[in-house]
Amino acid sequence: MNLYELTIHQLQKMLRSGEVTSVDVTKAIYERINDVDKEIHAYISLTREMALEQAEDADRKIKEGGDIPPLLGIPLAIKDVLCIEGVKTTCGSKILSNFIPPYDATVIKRLKANGAIFLGKTNMDEFAMGSSTETSYFGITRNPWSLQHIPGGSSGGSAAALAADECIGALGSDTGGSIRQPAGCCGVVGMKPTYGRVSRFGLVAFASSLDQIGPMTKDVTDTAILMNVISGRDLLDSTSLDVRVPDFTAALRDDVKGLRIGIPREYFVEGMDPEVEDSVSDAIRLLERLGASSREISLPHTDYAISTYYLLASAEASSNLARYDGVKYGYRTDDSNDIMHMYKKTRENGFGAEVKRRIMLGTYALSSGYYDAYYLKAQKVRTLIKDDFDKAFKGCDVLIVPNAPTPPFKIGEKMNNPLQMYLSDIFTISVNLSGIPAISIPCGFSKEGLPIGMQIMGRHFDEETILRIAYTFEQNTDYHLQKPKIKL
Ligand code: GLN
Repeated sequence: MNLYELTIHQLQKMLRSGEVTSVDVTKAIYERINDVDKEIHAYISLTREMALEQAEDADRKIKEGGDIPPLLGIPLAIKDVLCIEGVKTTCGSKILSNFIPPYDATVIKRLKANGAIFLGKTNMDEFAMGSSTETSYFGITRNPWSLQHIPGGSSGGSAAALAADECIGALGSDTGGSIRQPAGCCGVVGMKPTYGRVSRFGLVAFASSLDQIGPMTKDVTDTAILMNVISGRDLLDSTSLDVRVPDFTAALRDDVKGLRIGIPREYFVEGMDPEVEDSVSDAIRLLERLGASSREISLPHTDYAISTYYLLASAEASSNLARYDGVKYGYRTDDSNDIMHMYKKTRENGFGAEVKRRIMLGTYALSSGYYDAYYLKAQKVRTLIKDDFDKAFKGCDVLIVPNAPTPPFKIGEKMNNPLQMYLSDIFTISVNLSGIPAISIPCGFSKEGLPIGMQIMGRHFDEETILRIAYTFEQNTDYHLQKPKIKL
């Protein structure tokens, strides 16, 4: 096995036993990146010097013995929406193309404190707005399983980096599916934790009532390991909650006996790709054979999820993105004669088309005279969507649904039709609207050989049950072990 193919838990053992050094693994990954990233383009920037220094430091600590933190010497890829002190953080946008944050995000601080190494920053849709990683100012990312297909988005760079073995683990962010959908498209694991589980301090904000940071990994065990490190209350983010953080790795049991799975009928609709439907249905049948039970349930307000999400997310984005005005940091036009002109030109040249579309949509929905009809109404519908889940979880422990209605689509296919792009998010956004946790795990392949993902959704703060089911499924299948043959 090549060193770059290792999972976090495999590498943990090998580092501890002295079988490999962190420097060897880090170098092997950079060689791999050198070989494949010209085609895949998973990374916006690499932090080679810093990573090798961190790796040397880790190897020294391992040699010295003593307390070894869980991620000591483990190389990770970080979505370029998270601030690392002194490392360019662009958010996939021209307007932040020269931004070097003076501080670490809380998750980065936690990863550092636990010994992790940062390989670089991964590509993403501009300001995390998109489902295909095609709106990045820095160019598209390709799906390692087929270079003509999208890797999903907006955390497409992190997902592709994992699938192409250009990192050992990764972080993404999920506002409406941006961890789960790309994980599904690239055949890897991605979890959106409960809203409030992980601090967002140092995450560039898109829609603050929906944004969440989460792990993206090669298997479920690694997701639990990263969850242990990034979870917990943080005084710098008042939306992070003071709830018990369990040992998520203790939830990894190959046993689903007695667990009740709900299958929402609104998620298995006509027009859905039969390969996706078959893979997810087969997965549920397998879990039944292993001792779980399932029954059909209803989430009656599902039809309203897309419009509710795109109103609320755009409204919040229009307000969050008002800070990019060229004054204190980021890109500033050099073609301006007065301050108003400078603001306008900076924003006109600094943002891409999709970001401008959202800002306009959101500003309109919040404007006086339309606020009640759009923003306030959407808030009320959001509560109905959340109530649907609360009711469903009275009779079920988890819900299982597809990740997306189709396998990954072709690059360019939906770029000229924003509505089609938005509709592809139908299965992921309700989770953010209601704040619950969900994981995406690989559950099959299309005839074309493209990965298919399924989601397991759970109750607020019950990531443990989700992980237990995901782990059991993984132990009894081998989808997560398949590797793409990258055509270079
Ligand atoms: N695709 C969704 C959007 O474009 C979700 C993005 C995300 O989760 N960041 O808004």
